Amino acid sequence: MSRRRPGSVRRNDVKGFLLRRQGSRCFYCRTPLLNRADATLDHYIPYTLWRTWWAANLVVACARCNRDKADRLPWPLVWLLLAHAPAVTGRGAAA
Ligand SMILES: [Zn+2]
Repeated sequence: MSRRRPGSVRRNDVKGFLLRRQGSRCFYCRTPLLNRADATLDHYIPYTLWRTWWAANLVVACARCNRDKADRLPWPLVWLLLAHAPAVTGRGAAA
């Protein structure tokens, strides 16, 4: 058994926690998730990039959104990263 990090929740508890946090709606399309079986756990930042079960990186999504997103970064995060990325000027990195 590994030690739990602060803010982590057990996987069995996490779905109920996330459903309450999100008002029982899909994180992406806001479709109501009427029962726990409809809700799938999704890593906001894909598990392949950030191997954590920390609740801050978990959302509940409907099966369709989870399948459509798969292993990709969510678009809002991509936009955020691009907005803060240093501009590429072709004259070398500014320090
Ligand atoms: Zn959805």
